Amino acid sequence: MPTIFIPTALRVFTDQQAKLSVDARTVGEAIQKLVETYPKLRPHLFNEQGQLRSFVNLYLGEEDVRHLQGLETPLAPDAELMIVPSVAGGVGTQERVRSLIDDARLQAITLSQEEVLRYSRHLIMPEVTMEGQRRLKAARVLLIGTGGLGSPLALYLAAAGVGTIGLVDFDVVDYSNLQRQVIHFTSDVGKPKLQSAMEKIRDLNPYVTVIPFETRLTSENALDIMRDFDVIVDGTDNFPTRYLVNDACVLLGKPNVYGSIFRFEGQASVFWAQHGPCYRCLYPEPPPPGLVPSCAEGGVLGILPGLIGLVQATETIKLILGVGEPLIGRLLLLDALQMRWRELKLRKDPNCPVCGENPTVRELIDYAEFCGIRGEEAPVETDGLPSITPAQLKERLERGEPLVILDVREPFELEISRLPYPFRHIPMGEVLERVHELNPADEIVVVCRSGGRSAQITRLLQTMGFGKVKNLVGGVNGYAQEVDPSISVY
Ligand SMILES: [Zn+2]
Repeated sequence: MPTIFIPTALRVFTDQQAKLSVDARTVGEAIQKLVETYPKLRPHLFNEQGQLRSFVNLYLGEEDVRHLQGLETPLAPDAELMIVPSVAGGVGTQERVRSLIDDARLQAITLSQEEVLRYSRHLIMPEVTMEGQRRLKAARVLLIGTGGLGSPLALYLAAAGVGTIGLVDFDVVDYSNLQRQVIHFTSDVGKPKLQSAMEKIRDLNPYVTVIPFETRLTSENALDIMRDFDVIVDGTDNFPTRYLVNDACVLLGKPNVYGSIFRFEGQASVFWAQHGPCYRCLYPEPPPPGLVPSCAEGGVLGILPGLIGLVQATETIKLILGVGEPLIGRLLLLDALQMRWRELKLRKDPNCPVCGENPTVRELIDYAEFCGIRGEEAPVETDGLPSITPAQLKERLERGEPLVILDVREPFELEISRLPYPFRHIPMGEVLERVHELNPADEIVVVCRSGGRSAQITRLLQTMGFGKVKNLVGGVNGYAQEVDPSISVY
């Protein structure tokens, strides 16, 4: 029977099943059987009109079924159908791309004796040689973000001798970053990430020029920041910046080396509109906010950004040297639990709104609005939502008021931290079916890690007639920070 593979992000709706064998003769039949078996999956795959959502891609083998016969595509008994959702991550694969560094720029570059010694294991490779190493030195690479992906990228590209590395970041190093952002050390906690990254790069390779941009990448500054670089490497963790980077690269004609990670899964590709598809050809629009969790909500294995970041670093170096086959028109997928790499063909979409034949996006737009959110810090609409602060909650509970605390986090999160009061526990995904366990007459305070999921559940309960439901602002983390430092923050 054909097999459907389910990505990690959707396994919460399939009782953690990673695959399902279905008795089906077409792709459409198979997907119908899948959502019949797991009804909670339906709204994530189909819209209200019953059509497959545009940010869900179905692959049969390495082909997108949209380029076969769509949902009518027949399935052989041993067929493998993959669901590829967008993660907060044509041309013939034989196409060769010339080095990004033209001869005029190459002529201007020489290597000192120290540099020759430093790069000697490169220089004796026929694919690099002195000429390739000079190309690397001439190259200007912009890294968007110095987080999980940006850390290995910056270290390896600096070590390899990329002459100029631009870094865009505005964040400071946090303890929770250290598990995966290997360019930052324990003694860097509290420092700007840019400063921490620059110190490491300088110590690793003083021949690298680092250009820092201590800012959030925005529609106003993106073109100016990116214009002078040869390659843009996307190490972002949110959809607005991902679309912004894509569109700016298309408008500037620059290659966009893409990577994204979620828990045990990763994606990588090279989007370059002159030579192949762009990110929007693959995902024309972002999923609605809340449907796909970010790394902060969903977690990520600390090693995974290393694996995907180094795929991006490898592709960057190949583009600079002009060797090998770039990952243009191919999406590389990693499932680290199975340790399985798969490769999917990507085609340029003639109707792509930014790189298609009649583009409708001719300048950078408001990407927060496009992604349906009002900035990264406020992904959930909380305006007008009844809420309670940690201090108010503590005060009222100590007065003995009969508040019912509803914790909607996952069971394993309760092992990390919990409020020091009796509470009810119903994980977010079970609230709908277990709502009868709650009393609409009670004053219920919904809590989660940082207030995002609880806001959604507060709104849900409101629509179901719970008149006195409230959201705990900042979640259990906020309670720990404001009221009770004995509780762990995660
Ligand atoms: Zn496109």
